Amino acid sequence: MTFDSLGLSADLLANVAREGYTEPTPVQAAAIPHVLAGRDVLAAAQTGTGKTAAFALPILERLRAHANTAVSPARHPVRVLVLAPTRELAVQVEEFFRAYGRGLGLRSAVIHGGVPMEPQVKALWSGVEVLVATPGRLLDHLGQGTVKLGQAEVLVLDEADRMLDMGFIPDVRRIVALLTSRRQTLFFSATFSDEIRRLAREFLHDPVTVEVARRNSLADNLSQTLYPVDAARKADLLIHLIETERMEQVLVFTRTKTAAGRLASYLDRRGVPAVAIHGDRSQPERMRALEDFKRGDVTVLVATDVASRGLDIEELPHVVNYELPDDPQDYIHRVGRTSRAGATGTAISLVSPEEVEELRAVQRMLRAAIPVRVVEAYLPGTGAPREPAGPDRGAVRGRGHAPARRRPALAGR
Ligand code: AMP
Repeated sequence: MTFDSLGLSADLLANVAREGYTEPTPVQAAAIPHVLAGRDVLAAAQTGTGKTAAFALPILERLRAHANTAVSPARHPVRVLVLAPTRELAVQVEEFFRAYGRGLGLRSAVIHGGVPMEPQVKALWSGVEVLVATPGRLLDHLGQGTVKLGQAEVLVLDEADRMLDMGFIPDVRRIVALLTSRRQTLFFSATFSDEIRRLAREFLHDPVTVEVARRNSLADNLSQTLYPVDAARKADLLIHLIETERMEQVLVFTRTKTAAGRLASYLDRRGVPAVAIHGDRSQPERMRALEDFKRGDVTVLVATDVASRGLDIEELPHVVNYELPDDPQDYIHRVGRTSRAGATGTAISLVSPEEVEELRAVQRMLRAAIPVRVVEAYLPGTGAPREPAGPDRGAVRGRGHAPARRRPALAGR
């Protein structure tokens, strides 16, 4: 299938070609015709599937009729509202709208928390057809009257499951109440719990369901490895693996932002360039950290699950679960950052004896055991550090360099 057969006009096709896309991804092929036809769409698609273009391209096509060069803000009301759970995702979605909509004469803006309101107010005042927002900051603007949604015809709820996890649904409801019931609604979610299905019924009208990726599925070209290790020695094992496997770009997940910050500074002190990205850092700091990582200036980006959502880092070779997530679905989200679009990737999990429950949950969900690899010097209970070590203590100690060898499976896990 080619993009030409989807009903998009020539200038949009040219923008798609400029992005280097030669054929639509499955979610694009499945969703675009329905969105163009004005239907509500309920789509099961994760980040990395091309879901943004699946809604942005047909929305831009439908919006073209409203393009105009008038200076009056009244001629540029918000016609499309995209709600996203995180700042990073909102920024990326708006960037895609701009790239896909180049030369169409439509305007877009992104608003999210963590930065001053003022520049956002200015952008809104001049008028925008496409508004991408996180729910909290949008409500602030609505409260101040700096934006109106009375003419919004299309609503996109992106990563609805994450908005639910983050407690944004009451905010989303308040926003949706301001929109016309005649709107078109597109609902994207990586996972479909009963709660998500209920929300979909609440927000959508007679939707077409588009499901492309099998639930809980991982890419075939992803290699997963589990290293058993004492919690206190994980950081040193991580350094050992980065050095022996010559890893140059590694995304590392921790459960908490405190752990993310500590681990990044420990790695840095130990000569492995690292930065942390989490909700406590200012937006410019987070963007800078991401850029440094993308450029290859730092080897390791340490992130929490929340902060990582929507990060668009292409061809990421290594993902490390420094700690297993509470929610096994997050394992899928995390390791889905590598092995995208056919590239090979490795997902490493450093698992301490305290994490047996979390590991069970992940393996139950995967319906498979993660292959175990052992680095003898770091096995739990062996060679315990003589002095406190790791990021929590800040002490520097020697590290083992024992060769890794394969073991079939971790018995009983
Ligand atoms: P998304 O799932 O929207 O976050 O997109 C993930 C990545 O896929 C982005 O880097 C897009 O630029 C890229 N992408 C989207 N559509 C296509 C396509 N049809 N062909 C190749 N890459 C694509």
